[in-house]
Amino acid sequence: MRKISDWGNYPVIEADVGGFDTADQLRQKLGKPGPVIAFGNGRSYGDASLQENILLTRRFSKFLSFDEATGELCCQAGVLLSEILDVFVPRGWFLPVTPGTKLITVGGAIAADVHGKNHHVDGSFGQHVLSMDVMRSDGSVMTCSPTENAEFFNITTGGMGLTGIILTAAFRLRKIETAYIREETVRAANLDEIMDGFEASNDWTYSVAWIDCLAKGDSMGRSIMMRGEHAKTVELLNPSHKHAPLKPKSGIKLDIPVMFPNFALNHWTMQAFNFAYYNMCRPGTHKSIVDYNSYFYPLDAIGNWNRIYGKRGFTQYQFVIPKEAGREGMRNILRRITDSGLGSFLAVLKLFGEQESFISFPMAGYTLALDFPISLKAMDLFKELDAMVAGYGGRLYLAKDSRMDAAMFEKTYPNADDFRQAIATLNDGETRFASLLSKRIGVTS
Ligand SMILES: Cc1cc2nc3c(=O)[nH]c(=O)nc-3n(C[C@H](O)[C@H](O)[C@H](O)COP(=O)(O)OP(=O)(O)OC[C@H]3O[C@@H](n4cnc5c(N)ncnc54)[C@H](O)[C@@H]3O)c2cc1C
Repeated sequence: MRKISDWGNYPVIEADVGGFDTADQLRQKLGKPGPVIAFGNGRSYGDASLQENILLTRRFSKFLSFDEATGELCCQAGVLLSEILDVFVPRGWFLPVTPGTKLITVGGAIAADVHGKNHHVDGSFGQHVLSMDVMRSDGSVMTCSPTENAEFFNITTGGMGLTGIILTAAFRLRKIETAYIREETVRAANLDEIMDGFEASNDWTYSVAWIDCLAKGDSMGRSIMMRGEHAKTVELLNPSHKHAPLKPKSGIKLDIPVMFPNFALNHWTMQAFNFAYYNMCRPGTHKSIVDYNSYFYPLDAIGNWNRIYGKRGFTQYQFVIPKEAGREGMRNILRRITDSGLGSFLAVLKLFGEQESFISFPMAGYTLALDFPISLKAMDLFKELDAMVAGYGGRLYLAKDSRMDAAMFEKTYPNADDFRQAIATLNDGETRFASLLSKRIGVTS
């Protein structure tokens, strides 16, 4: 038994934790009765990969094949996105979709059906998966794709590890000329301006905004939008970039060596940070060429940054509300958050494109994600926010959640019932897949 948690360090549990190197070893482990859940790299925030028996997938991480002509990559599910980038960016290929950290596994990317800054153009990660092999609780391996065993494919994509252990996946990488992004940053003085900014940025492949969730009144929603395109070789101006366009210099990596004390982060330190960050960007639009790590993964440059929240841990409240409810809904929810003064410095706003998957999080609309140190006040606030999000026809992201109840899940995920029934049918054996998350939201017992 050992102590383990996901990225938010809340909850921390004692669990029996073990890994596997081969499919046969995994089959043996699944031969034991009782519940189990896959643990990728623990970058979900709450309890999605936690329960008393945990199967670590990281050792199952070989590249299996790559087709230079089509960009089709097949690999084991414990491979990290960062490992794919390390090998394939120098060869001129990039991920089809990437979240704000590259330190997640391929299995975690599919199980949470992760989204990136290009959701409005390219959809979620699962929409790029061509096929996958999944080991079920009886040790059998199911090959599935959008056309083969499609129902199983659809509940595994976004199914949070509850259908089985994803062993391998094939998906197509995208061709790039350089490892750089042509970026434009645009400062917006309030919520209306940033929403106009998103509408005007629909032609950009990547767009996202950092939003100050502590600013009030006329400044509520003040933001910095970062939109980008993969830079072409001719667009690189710096001679060292031109010389090796696919090999950017690696930046300095910092590390947070210990847990911060709980008092280090308070309303004032967060407000000071937000003020400084917003004002670092001058008004107007600014163009630059940045390497892909700086654009997509600024937080990965600070190892263990989750420790700044201290031992109490933190959670991320990420919701999406449909576009029709967008402006008014977002204004009301944001006002409630800013009034509470509880938000922290990491808030991200994004406009999703259309998506109608079986159980995945994204839908056409605005999504806001912000971190909160764990506190009783925050828990009370979330209850109020839940009612508002549900009232606007929105929902919460399971990969970030550690506290939503079954009623909220039921109300906001249209296929909640069918999902529960499908998982019950698949779990009809002595071994079954279940997590603290799946129990809490009533998908499994
Ligand atoms: C800094 C940061 C930024 C982030 N930004 C984004 C973002 O922009 N967009 C976004 O969508 N998400 C984002 N996330 C969330 C993250 O991408 C997801 O939670 C992802 O699922 C984590 O993958 P993991 O490999 O760490 O898996 P874990 O966190 O260990 O597990 C996540 C889920 O996947 C399941 N799982 C893992 N491996 C397998 C497998 N082989 N077979 C079956 N099930 C499996 C687990 O059981 C669990 O349900 C971010 C997280 C962090 C920490």
